[in-house]
Amino acid sequence: MILLDGKKTSNDIKDEIAVSVNEIKKRGEKVPHLAAVLVGNDGASLTYVGSKVRACERVGFNSTLIELPETTSEERLLKTINDLNNNNEIDGFIVQLPLPKHINEEKVLLAINPNKDVDGFHPENFGKMALEMDSFIPATPFGILQLLERYQVETKGKHTVVIGRSHIVGRPMSILMSQKGPAANSTVTLTHSYTKNLSQITKQADIIIVALGIPEYLKADMVKDNVVIVDVGISRVPDESKPKGYVIKGDVAFDEVSKKSSFITPVPGGVGPMTIAMLLKNTLIARERGGNHS
Ligand code: NAD
Repeated sequence: MILLDGKKTSNDIKDEIAVSVNEIKKRGEKVPHLAAVLVGNDGASLTYVGSKVRACERVGFNSTLIELPETTSEERLLKTINDLNNNNEIDGFIVQLPLPKHINEEKVLLAINPNKDVDGFHPENFGKMALEMDSFIPATPFGILQLLERYQVETKGKHTVVIGRSHIVGRPMSILMSQKGPAANSTVTLTHSYTKNLSQITKQADIIIVALGIPEYLKADMVKDNVVIVDVGISRVPDESKPKGYVIKGDVAFDEVSKKSSFITPVPGGVGPMTIAMLLKNTLIARERGGNHS
């Protein structure tokens, strides 16, 4: 079994990005600048945004964190987005999800300038991605592709089963794995909460990408020998014996499934750090394209 080490790989990618930033500096040009908008004080969102801002510092980007109270109106948030769209200092920005219930997520998504949409969630980017055109690929699927590619996991002609059809992970992952290119050319089955006999399908899979958010859902008796496992899940499971009062669990019962796997991502230290590295990569791409001037 080989561990798909997202921590190490993401550090390699950040080092590569830092080299590019140094070259930008040497040319006397402006370094990439990522902004993040956080509405409310959800614990997990605060942690994610904090990691994204720290990652910017590590690679030499500028970063701006805009924290808005839970009670922020939709109009106020849309105004903030409009300001970021028009601010030439900012190359890319993200609006951390989930948003409070009184704010329409779709409206917010559509308000983001696609050239600055480094999360790759805007329909223009999603459509371009699906058509294999140049676009921002959502950070989590982008990170998974990088992990598979850098560990030279064979995907061509393999049967990849994706569990979960969210717009940010499962659905784009299923599209990307079936496309042409490195870490792709798979035959893909996309499964979801209405899928019948899931374990019959997963038992036929060469590669399983799990993104459903149910701790330790995928068990050893649901997979075949030598399977490749990518575990996207992040759940906080209460555990009074831990200082934080919880432990982080993935969607895969790691101890038992890893024994049957050829490659597997750990949680934490797998897909999570890759997501952050690819957000930085998208910001660098945005800077290089100079999208904020178009
Ligand atoms: P989501 O929470 O929006 O949706 C869950 C999906 O799972 C749905 O499409 C649903 O159809 C499917 N599902 C639910 N029960 C199922 C079942 N029994 N069988 C098959 N499919 C089932 O999905 P999400 O936003 O992709 O999040 C999934 C998990 O991934 C969460 O734990 C989330 O925290 C985590 N996540 C991690 C990262 C990362 O960077 N590592 C990024 C995004 C999400």
